[in-house]
Amino acid sequence: MSSAGAGTSRGGSQGGGSQGGGSQGGGQADPGRKYGIMVNNNINHWKCIFCNKVLTAGVSWLKQHLVSGHKNAKKCPVCPEHVRAELGNYMAVRAA
Ligand SMILES: [Zn+2]
Repeated sequence: MSSAGAGTSRGGSQGGGSQGGGSQGGGQADPGRKYGIMVNNNINHWKCIFCNKVLTAGVSWLKQHLVSGHKNAKKCPVCPEHVRAELGNYMAVRAA
């Protein structure tokens, strides 16, 4: 009985709290936000936590940077594969 796989354990009670405006149906937060830091409280400016690049076109652009799904967004050189997979999966689901 080996549980080899590192299951993604959800962090318990992390506050998160009331920053970020748009409440869309009160669903899950955009996972892209976990991998970026908002710069100057500007919702469109996000710094990649992996390579410290600042993306100035919103958190969706940050995700493009991480998953390299967009030709105009430069692919993050340090983003771990599992993060790429997570975000790619999320974007695929949302892109209905
Ligand atoms: Zn990056």
